[in-house]
Amino acid sequence: MNDRTWPSVFISHGAPTLVLEDIPARHFLASLGKRLGRPQSILCVSAHWQMRLAAVSGAEKPETIHDFHGFPEALYRLRYPAPGAPELARRVADLCTAAGIACAVDAVRGLDHGAWNPLLLLYPQADIPITQLSILTQGGPRAHRALGQAIMQLRREGVLVLASGGAVHSLRQFQVDRDRPAPWALAFDEWLAETIVAGDEAALLDYRDSRPEAKAAHPTDDHFLPLFVALGAGGGDRGKVLHRSFAHGSLGMAAFGWGDLPAGT
Ligand code: ZN
Repeated sequence: MNDRTWPSVFISHGAPTLVLEDIPARHFLASLGKRLGRPQSILCVSAHWQMRLAAVSGAEKPETIHDFHGFPEALYRLRYPAPGAPELARRVADLCTAAGIACAVDAVRGLDHGAWNPLLLLYPQADIPITQLSILTQGGPRAHRALGQAIMQLRREGVLVLASGGAVHSLRQFQVDRDRPAPWALAFDEWLAETIVAGDEAALLDYRDSRPEAKAAHPTDDHFLPLFVALGAGGGDRGKVLHRSFAHGSLGMAAFGWGDLPAGT
């Protein structure tokens, strides 16, 4: 497996209750780890770590951060005790710096639920070393694609790039629209899948101009930005659709991959 180039993957993590839910996306994520196989380490980019300048976690034993409120008690007892990857973190910081992107190693940052919640499904044994890379509070799609391009070569070094956000993510709709996806959510999801498969990066990068539903689908950028890190790390390949479904009405749970993906994904 050492000479394998690992794919770059974007997943939607949905609500913090993901691991407890009987929804199609949960079943997809529970099968994805087996189908991808076991990388030497994981670099996770979560929507829930937002920094002005890029940061990467160098923690040797990252703690499980329960960064949500008002959910079932069982969620607060869950832990994801995977080892950290401090050497990988330093490599990430070096690659970013070499690409002209400031990136600091944070010695203590743990794993937020955008990382550990889906990882509990992908790799439940929690024994693959992992580090997290932040997204940027002041940087749009292009800055995040550049971040992905900076770390692209890690895919040839046994690293799975796992970006975790939301394909359609409006918490306002999450409250009111629980039964089925709204027309704008379906339209954005359809456009997103078609555009990724077509490899139309320009349309993706300018998604707010490309699609009238963009504002409803993403009132803020944060859950969409990890997709651009995965896109950049994908190195210009056309993407593939790994999964599409909705949860809680209009929460889009699609997943996409770039690079060599095993059959059946
Ligand atoms: Zn989230």
